Amino acid sequence: MTRHVIIGNGIAGINAAETIRRIEPEADIHIIAGETFPPYSRPMISLVLEGRLDHDRLPIRGPDFYKKNRIKVSLGEKVESIEVEQRKVFTDRGQAVGFDRLLIASGADPRRIKVPGEDLENVSFFRTQDHAQKVLKSLPDVKRALVLGGGLVAFKSAYGLMKRGIKVTMLISSGYPLSMQVDGMAGKLILDELTTNGLEIRTGAEVTALEGIGTVSKANLSDGTSMNCDLVMIGKGVKPSVGLVPKDRIRVDLGILVDHHLETTSPGIFAAGDVAQAMDVVRNETWVNAIWPVAAEQGIIAGNNMAGRPVVYRGSFGRNVMRVHSLDVMSGGITNPKQSENYRIFTSTDNRNRLYRKLVLRDDKLVGMTMIGNIEQGGVILSLIQRQLPLTQDPEQMLEPSFNFSSVFTGTFRRRRNIE
Ligand SMILES: Cc1cc2nc3c(=O)[nH]c(=O)nc-3n(C[C@H](O)[C@H](O)[C@H](O)COP(=O)(O)OP(=O)(O)OC[C@H]3O[C@@H](n4cnc5c(N)ncnc54)[C@H](O)[C@@H]3O)c2cc1C
Repeated sequence: MTRHVIIGNGIAGINAAETIRRIEPEADIHIIAGETFPPYSRPMISLVLEGRLDHDRLPIRGPDFYKKNRIKVSLGEKVESIEVEQRKVFTDRGQAVGFDRLLIASGADPRRIKVPGEDLENVSFFRTQDHAQKVLKSLPDVKRALVLGGGLVAFKSAYGLMKRGIKVTMLISSGYPLSMQVDGMAGKLILDELTTNGLEIRTGAEVTALEGIGTVSKANLSDGTSMNCDLVMIGKGVKPSVGLVPKDRIRVDLGILVDHHLETTSPGIFAAGDVAQAMDVVRNETWVNAIWPVAAEQGIIAGNNMAGRPVVYRGSFGRNVMRVHSLDVMSGGITNPKQSENYRIFTSTDNRNRLYRKLVLRDDKLVGMTMIGNIEQGGVILSLIQRQLPLTQDPEQMLEPSFNFSSVFTGTFRRRRNIE
């Protein structure tokens, strides 16, 4: 009987476990996970912060999930090391667990800021349901919050706190929020929407120290100024959680390198989700795309391959959809290419109606998109990017608000059939 061990009970880990159980009814499955909470939607912790979702609505599987799937589970326990030769993992509770197939689905850790005062009360990351709960408990005493970073998590933290009526300052180095997701034009529309709704943004400065007696009360900044704050949220990005991986046996770049079966460089050991560095279809190289749908898909594919049913991973790309107050934002792929000579960029702007569209092509293939407002047909563009088929339509026409995107697909499929 095959012994499957899965590290992590995020979406990648649980999808893999369910897949293995479907294919191998008799296999041993053992999940070891640092968090104790039932499997939950990590992105939705921002809705809990906003007050749009109750904390107890976070779980995405019922309390009987492990029992129903006959999964042995060790919760609140962390794998400290993996012995590749012995086929065993060792945990912080002294447990040694043998495996035939291993999945590393340990997700990502928030980047620390490493300044004095980082350990004060009310200085928090925003990664887990536990973080969300702690921040919520602190809110009655919070009047002024400082959010560090301009990425997706920082942005969602700031947005959630504003919705709770707290005065928020965002400290970012890039000039506008979400600079990894959108270009300056889209960034300006987002920034205007946020500042109109009360967000204060400070750029070009970093925190050098946090001060307070027990609880944070002041932040000192690199430009010599300081500001009073009773909550600090750290949103300076995440890095794959690879601390447990023996780097001499399993190759790690930024994340754990995996092949087209999501197998690492050590046979029988797989990686999926935010910890994995897998093929990116628009970059044509391996990349860590730390987003939910990618983790979910990789979990299923890894599960198939672990259970002996070979499935090829076709690759992914980064993408996001979100609402900023009354502004809908969708972006995907390479939205802000640096070497513009290899790319053709098409944009349309309607300032009066706050509409913006951008398509990025390399050769005759779509590799990136941004849509601000009127995003209904954006899913079709994301599908085109994923499929990497030559575009049959004029990109200029595709920027027209009245363009019918179903015609793009029809044309593309017809052309593909002709090629095949
Ligand atoms: C606030 C927020 C908002 C987000 N918004 C979006 C969004 O809008 N759209 C989107 O696509 N994505 C979003 N994401 C990202 C998305 O949540 C992640 O990509 C996804 O949850 C990754 O799933 P995973 O299974 O790879 O890892 P995780 O969900 O991180 O799960 C990994 C699990 O492994 C456990 N673990 C780690 N190390 C060990 C160890 N050594 N031993 C045992 N267990 C271990 C951890 O405790 C954790 O429970 C957001 C994330 C956050 C935090």
